[in-house]
Amino acid sequence: MRTPLLAGNWKMYKTTGEARELVEGLLHGLGDVSDRKVLVCPPFTALQTVRDLIRGTPIALGAQDVYIEPQGAFTGAISPVMLRDLGCTYVIVGHSERRAIFGEGDELINKKVRAALAHDLTPILCVGETKPQRDAGQAESIVVAQVRAALAGMAPEQIGRIVIAYEPVWAIGTGDTATPADAQAMHETIRRILGDMAGFDVAATINILYGGSVKPDNIDDLMAQPDIDGALVGGASLKADSFLRIVHFLPPQG
Ligand code: PEP
Repeated sequence: MRTPLLAGNWKMYKTTGEARELVEGLLHGLGDVSDRKVLVCPPFTALQTVRDLIRGTPIALGAQDVYIEPQGAFTGAISPVMLRDLGCTYVIVGHSERRAIFGEGDELINKKVRAALAHDLTPILCVGETKPQRDAGQAESIVVAQVRAALAGMAPEQIGRIVIAYEPVWAIGTGDTATPADAQAMHETIRRILGDMAGFDVAATINILYGGSVKPDNIDDLMAQPDIDGALVGGASLKADSFLRIVHFLPPQG
C-alpha cells in the first residue's frame, strides 16, 4: 500500500560537474525500480544540472530546504515557486542541521510544510531526538512534540500529502544507527500520532522514512520493519554504488 521511497540528501556536497558524474552513475546502474520511488536532493546550485539529466527517468528531484514566501525581498532565500520551476517535486523540511545550525524552530517549520504543500511540493518533514534526550528517556516525547508542532492546524488532506523522516540526531553522519527494532518502535509511535491528527486511514498511507547512517549493510534489516517505508540517506547517497545498493534493498526472505 505504501511504495518505498529511497531518498538521497546530498547536503552541501557536489559541484555541478560532480553532480553530473554521480547522476550518470546512478542512471547506469538503476535498472528496474518500478516497485519503489527514488529521489535525489542535490544542493540548489546543482538542481538544474540534475533536472536535465533525470528527465524521463524514474529518479525524482527534491530540494533540501525552502522559504515560506513565493517571492520577495528575502536575500539568499529560495521559494517554492522557484523549486517547482526547476522540476522539484519534493523538499526536505526541518532537517536537524537546519534546526541546530540555522536555528529553525517548530513555528517556521510548520510554515515551510504549508508553503511546500501550497505549491504542490511533497515536504519530507524531519524529526528526531538528540543523544542527551534519548539518554534521558525523552526520545518519544520529543519526536511526538515535533510532529504535532510541524503539522499543527493542518487538515487531514494536507497531512496525507507529507512524508516523515525519523532521523535520530545522534545517528546522523556518525556511523551509529538506531537498531531496526528501536526505529520501528518510533515509526509506530509516529504513525499513531498521525492517526490521531488525521485519522488512521490517512496515517496508514503516509511514508515514514528512517534516516541516520543508513548504509548498504543495514538497509535490508531496516526495510524489513513494517513501519519503515524507506530511507533518507546522507553520506551513503554521495557515491553511486552505495546509493544504488540502498535503492535495491532486498525484501526479507520467506
Ligand atoms: C541525513 O543527512 O539526513 C542523514 C541521515 O545523513 P547520514 O546518512 O550521513 O547519517
